[in-house]
Amino acid sequence: MRDHGLVVQDVEPDSIAGELGVEPGDSLLQVNGKAVLDILDYRYLTAEENLEVLLQKENGEQWLLDIEKDLDEPLGITFVEGGWGKTRSCGNNCIFCFVDQMPSQMRPSLYVKDDDYRLSFAQGNFITLTNTGPQELERIARLRLSPLYISVHTTNPELRREMMMHPRAGEIMSQLTYLADKGIKMHTQAVLCPGINDGEQLDRTIKDLGGLWPAVRSLAVVPVGLTAWREGLYELRPYSRDEARTVIDQVRGWQEAFNSQIEYPFVFASDEFYLISGRLIPDAGQYGGFPQTENGVGLVRLFMDEWEAAARNLPVQVKMPLRGSVATGTLAGPVLQPVIEAINGVKGVQLKLYILENQFFGKTVNVAGLLTGRDLQSSLSGRDLGEVLFVPKVMLRRDDDVFLDDMTVADLAAGLGVAVVAVTGPADLVQYIKTVERWWKNG
Ligand code: SF4
Repeated sequence: MRDHGLVVQDVEPDSIAGELGVEPGDSLLQVNGKAVLDILDYRYLTAEENLEVLLQKENGEQWLLDIEKDLDEPLGITFVEGGWGKTRSCGNNCIFCFVDQMPSQMRPSLYVKDDDYRLSFAQGNFITLTNTGPQELERIARLRLSPLYISVHTTNPELRREMMMHPRAGEIMSQLTYLADKGIKMHTQAVLCPGINDGEQLDRTIKDLGGLWPAVRSLAVVPVGLTAWREGLYELRPYSRDEARTVIDQVRGWQEAFNSQIEYPFVFASDEFYLISGRLIPDAGQYGGFPQTENGVGLVRLFMDEWEAAARNLPVQVKMPLRGSVATGTLAGPVLQPVIEAINGVKGVQLKLYILENQFFGKTVNVAGLLTGRDLQSSLSGRDLGEVLFVPKVMLRRDDDVFLDDMTVADLAAGLGVAVVAVTGPADLVQYIKTVERWWKNG
């Protein structure tokens, strides 16, 4: 029987491991007497110059390899599943969980409730720490897994237990304090549910987390996301315009206090709060270096600033006429409208903006990133799309041409009978117009 360890997938031919006879299928069990649980252990333990590596061959035979190498010189091994092993999942039952509100028929990976501190470090995934005991906290500190991204929601222990339905959820402040004392940096978020963890509870959360500055580097405040698929789930409602304004004012009050105390705003309301409220998006200077764009904080400001720069590159006219269309969600529609109007000021360019409701998740889901291929197909079918349809890249799976519902860009193009081009932002759109014109001019 094989012991645990990391299973070798590939060995570079001229590497240290290759010369020592390590082969795909071998299991790496220990380095310098310490068990290797995952790629993080492996990287940490093999950074030394002198190594004693315990390996198990596929036939069960164990080899002890003595290795002398340069500091940080790699052994030349890659591992099955990247050496991560099984992803840790969450044991929570959060009242606002988006995974619980997913319709069926989505790809299986969207139903995974991962809560893995290793992925928080490696990919920026938010974690709750409810499945992270003292040994794991010690491991985070020892391996220096920093920064981490933590979903706090509230620092009130009873309220956090109620919101996440996990008996250990109330330990969050002692966990954060331990990590802060060990020098781990953290970015945090609070998903706000109206009347539950906002108001005085939010004041408490901001105050407590701000007290852990500079270890806790930022707090993003985002509104709860609600789909149409909430039957049998905890009763929640979305934020109204006035409530969103109240949250923004509250966050701004704290930003002023932090700016005068630590010269950093620390807490940020997400773009969604600003768009719901109808308030002006703050200047770039108020985003403190944009620590949480992945969480929808500051993306609209970056978009607007990108547009300001790209607009200067717009040609006055194009000789090769371009007729096309742009699709987005209801939240970003008003932001995109003036951009499309300005682009249509270019003689020869005519773009139509289609602001689409989300039929798949329900119209309360208003962000462009959650529109599916089927939403686009059904809403745009039979409409005048011109020769090309531009869609924001956030609608697609990272580094892929696939929408959330597994429809590909090519499927959509075939269904609508139009070219479909994914763009990251306004600069991309302007670049497309200029490139087409250049091709045309060059014959
Ligand atoms: S931590 Fe909460 S919100 Fe996240 S997946 Fe688990 S239950 Fe859902």
